[in-house]
Amino acid sequence: AKNSNQSNNQLNGKVSNDDRRAEFFARKHRIVQQRKSLPIASVEKRLVEEVKSNNILIIVGETGSGKTTQLPQFLFNAGLCHDGKVIGITQPRRVAAVSVAKRVAEECGVQLGQRVGYSIRFDDTISRSTRIKYMTDGLLLREALLDPYLSRYSVIIVDEAHERTVHTDVLLGLLKTVQKVRSGPINECSKIDRMKANNGLLMEKENDAQRASILKQYRGIKLSPLKLIIMSASLDARVFSEYFGGARAVHVQGRQFPVDILYTHHPETDYLDATLITLFQIHLEEGPGDILVFLTGQEEIESVERLVQEKLRQLPEDNQKVKVLSIFSSLPSEKQMQVFMPAPTGFRKVILATNIAETSVTIPGIKYVIDPGFVKARTYCAHTGMESLIIVPTSKAQALQRSGRAGREVPGKCFRLYPESEFEKLSDSTIPEIRRCNLSNVILQLKALGVDDIIGFDFMEKPSSEAVLKSLELLVLLGALTEEYKLSDPVGHQMARLPLEPIYSKALILASQFNCLEEMLITVAMLSVESVFYNPREKLEEARTAAKCFSSLEGDHPTLIAVYRAFDEFLEKSNLGNSREKTEKNLRKWQIRGNIEQMGLHIVSCGDDMLQFRRCLAAAFFLNAALKQPDGTYRVLSSGQVVQIHPSSVFFRTKPDCIIFDEFVRTTHNYVRNLSSLLSTIPCKSRSRSRIHGLNLKDDRLLFVWRGLVELHSCTGLRWTAILIHPLGYC
Ligand code: ADP
Ligand code: MG
Repeated sequence: AKNSNQSNNQLNGKVSNDDRRAEFFARKHRIVQQRKSLPIASVEKRLVEEVKSNNILIIVGETGSGKTTQLPQFLFNAGLCHDGKVIGITQPRRVAAVSVAKRVAEECGVQLGQRVGYSIRFDDTISRSTRIKYMTDGLLLREALLDPYLSRYSVIIVDEAHERTVHTDVLLGLLKTVQKVRSGPINECSKIDRMKANNGLLMEKENDAQRASILKQYRGIKLSPLKLIIMSASLDARVFSEYFGGARAVHVQGRQFPVDILYTHHPETDYLDATLITLFQIHLEEGPGDILVFLTGQEEIESVERLVQEKLRQLPEDNQKVKVLSIFSSLPSEKQMQVFMPAPTGFRKVILATNIAETSVTIPGIKYVIDPGFVKARTYCAHTGMESLIIVPTSKAQALQRSGRAGREVPGKCFRLYPESEFEKLSDSTIPEIRRCNLSNVILQLKALGVDDIIGFDFMEKPSSEAVLKSLELLVLLGALTEEYKLSDPVGHQMARLPLEPIYSKALILASQFNCLEEMLITVAMLSVESVFYNPREKLEEARTAAKCFSSLEGDHPTLIAVYRAFDEFLEKSNLGNSREKTEKNLRKWQIRGNIEQMGLHIVSCGDDMLQFRRCLAAAFFLNAALKQPDGTYRVLSSGQVVQIHPSSVFFRTKPDCIIFDEFVRTTHNYVRNLSSLLSTIPCKSRSRSRIHGLNLKDDRLLFVWRGLVELHSCTGLRWTAILIHPLGYC
């Protein structure tokens, strides 16, 4: 019996291996067919010629025509990676960089990380043999800090340029300069060094050692010309062409089937409810075909998913054959890839997506699109200095892109959940992000690149000078810039090296003085990545109960630390040493740790002394301090803004008198999220008179403010109840 069992197993093993092989070849064949049928495939030769004969090329092509996945492969095959150079493709979104790299690696039949790889903040799969590298636009900007002429790349493709993220805009400005230098007659390093003064170029480093080391890497290297390709899904190539001095633009013809656009008769009061009704109407009344629904974010997607499942269960069994999938940026990448898989036979796929699915990724099989007409967008108020994400109506361009998703493979239908008259009122296109975000991060990076005159920088679209000034002011208050707006040494240089928002970088640098760097690293790693707590829906209740056990009376930050530690311990105990989550989480922490250690900062833990940790938080986040008012709302000290505690906070019910927060969320209320309480005196370590390093609290009341802050706010007209400035600048 034993023997026959064994042979059975062997037999099974063999059969399944054969099956797997057959499946592998079938898939390979499908991919070859799919690639051949893409609109871009028929113009490969022409495109390669255009790239070879133009140093700057603008390529406009409909979403799904194959730009992102195919063009880099065409260029690789045409030999544009000479001398071990790399083709870099930037994406505004992490999800797109990862999913496209995976797809292209598969198309090329190579392992991810070999010829094809991706690199995003806190995660990369790049090796020495990588020639096609997908990355975020922000990441390439950071690379420029260490390699200002991007000498590793022979071609840089700025993809999804129509999205006009702040990083894309800044990158375009930078690439324009880099390209000029690399294509110019003088392209040897020593000469570049001499040229820079004339051109007002990069590398006006204050830090000589750093500058020398950067120059050293170029010594003896002849920089070859850089090919620059700007790709966009919007038909208007003019803005890009004009910005690059009349650069050549080519159009890739897409293939688009007609899409029926349907509007509602009246405006909807609850667009999520309307979405559900429409979804089931399509499912029950329309023919086969997958449905794509555009929602604004993770929370919305998860709640709609729950409701869809609930409703499905009430339907007769025959009608329950629906596979609901979602895609949003903080979804783990294995889950993101599931949306590309075909639904089981007889099933209808419903995909709940953020605007990622507008142009960044194309999901096969879609015939119906539901567009409630909203999107989450960054907004910035230069007056208060507060940045937030709010839900706003889409632009016409976005609505058109969304409906276009329905007609990729067959004629489709798009259900816009608003009346036609509303469509006419939408703005034509979205305002570039640079006009509506906090600029302190990019300013810090530009300064580190030697661009001193921010307002004079060759932006495609200038940010408002008010926003630039406010961000400069913030950087001065954080100590990253001197009062002459020069990068400070060492704090400014240190901050520029960390891939974090300036305020988090500052918190880490201060934490080494407050002996709580270990705790701050955990906090920053957890806060700087969108929703580190990925709560799979089924586990939500469990997760909530678990989180309650850890909730600390001292605030959300200490709670985060407790959760992280418990999770770490749990993984250790349950022998999940190699689990993906563990590596992912630790990676973030350790990657920043690498940067920190290079700076020579000491990583020590304050143990259970959370008071010390909160002092440090206060010293870094002092601009985000708020005092409770008699009616239970809070008033932000630096801006005067009135805010409320977000329901997710441990302080939602027990409101402390003074808090610091690190996120401002604008929904129906002005909420602040991730809070810690400030209760005791915070000794200020600074001896400098003109710079604030924190605020001082005593008896729950604000008593001392540093001079800089007072000056700042007296000029914005804020009144304080008790202000005392110590003549020596510290107390
Ligand atoms: P574009 O950049 O022009 O919008 P892409 O190169 O992103 O187009 O997509 C080309 C095609 O590749 C699309 O039809 C899309 O469905 C397909 N595709 C992209 N990624 C995947 C994937 N992970 N799995 C299956 N198909 C994919
Ligand atoms: Mg694309």
